[in-house]
Amino acid sequence: MSETPLVPPRLKNDCFAMPQGVDWVKVDEALARLRDILSPVTEVETLPTADARGRVLAEDCVARRSNPPAANSAVDGYGFAHAATGDGVQNLPLVDGRAAAGQAYAGEVPAGSAIRILTGAILPPGVDTVVLEEDCATDGNRVAFDGPIKPNANTRKAGEDVAKGEVALEKGHVIRPPDIALLTALGIAEVYVYRPLRVGVLSTGDELLSDPMAEGGADKIYDANRPMLLSLIESWGLDAVDLGHALDDEAAIRQRLDDGAAKVDVILTSGGASAGDEDHVSRLLKSTGSLSSWRIALKPGRPLALALWQGVPVFGFPGNPVAAFVCALVFARPALSLLGGAGWREPTSFVVAAAFSKNKKPGRREYLRARLNKDGAAEVFRSEGSGRISGLSWAEGLVELPDEAINVTPGVPVKFLPYSGF
Ligand code: AMP
Ligand code: MG
Repeated sequence: MSETPLVPPRLKNDCFAMPQGVDWVKVDEALARLRDILSPVTEVETLPTADARGRVLAEDCVARRSNPPAANSAVDGYGFAHAATGDGVQNLPLVDGRAAAGQAYAGEVPAGSAIRILTGAILPPGVDTVVLEEDCATDGNRVAFDGPIKPNANTRKAGEDVAKGEVALEKGHVIRPPDIALLTALGIAEVYVYRPLRVGVLSTGDELLSDPMAEGGADKIYDANRPMLLSLIESWGLDAVDLGHALDDEAAIRQRLDDGAAKVDVILTSGGASAGDEDHVSRLLKSTGSLSSWRIALKPGRPLALALWQGVPVFGFPGNPVAAFVCALVFARPALSLLGGAGWREPTSFVVAAAFSKNKKPGRREYLRARLNKDGAAEVFRSEGSGRISGLSWAEGLVELPDEAINVTPGVPVKFLPYSGF
């Protein structure tokens, strides 16, 4: 394993620029652009395999030994050489001693003899086949069973699971508990992994109460996006960093972005990302010369502001919590996965019957707040109002309606994307 720290590639200032003349960007084109532009930005480190759950592999893991390392018995029974047995009742003398897991038999078993053998025991020389103890009679000196037995029955070949030198897990894989078992079994005690991506979250808006305990007037609302996005990022196994709340004031936002750029790999902001009078985030990002406002043909969602702040990518999401959540799932999730070394990630989706009606016009993709009913059909929230946070909470996923027109009636197949599959 190489110990020299890798230098993350720097993004170019104009990396988010859309080609001239592009007005509305289709969701798939926006995703393809992000996929092209972004690459892993975090350093790599070596960790004990046992401590690496949730980490992303920075190199392929090659088996240091085979699993199993030697041919062994898959059952408790009696082992012998297959060639010395045949059809009908077999009566074989037993050698003294036995073979057990971790206690190899020292001698060789002569052809025509058998040995008591237990699960996991290495097959002693002279043994290639095992008969299950339930199929045997024995008096301690002899063993009898019905032939024929298939050659190599009830045995495991050396390396039949994974052979030494094979790639067990590929670079970019996210380590889960079964992977820890696999790597450990293959003698891989340490892994070379990416440091978890640090993702900062900033909310903007004069109307926001940043303290959920505070009492406020009717012109104030609680900052719902920041805890939502922070917990979403945590649920993706990334390091979520709270960059707080800034009023709609360029100096205040600038200070938060400066603070964020010094300690995180990527910043998500919500609010003020459009091109209106109070859209201070986009105005400020424009001053860097790196801002690109992608007008994505998507509902819910408005322009996605993309920029670099001191070299750190900034995703400016709409303030609306429904739009912010959908944009985070659809755009941030695969992008953050790529930045963190785990590669581009497609959400899990499956086709189910619709349990709703909707005549959708062509032109933009729509994500509806949805969940499956007891028949496995997708029902959608009663309102498409973009301010309805309760619908986000009611839902268990999104129904994705295509860019084109579609007339959905009950029973029509639609694409359902569970929240957990992002
Ligand atoms: P904006 O994108 O700043 O124009 O905000 C769009 C809508 O989302 C407005 O109704 C805002 O009050 C609301 N909003 C913005 N930020 C948040 C937030 N952090 N939590 C809840 N609602 C917000
Ligand atoms: Mg605002």
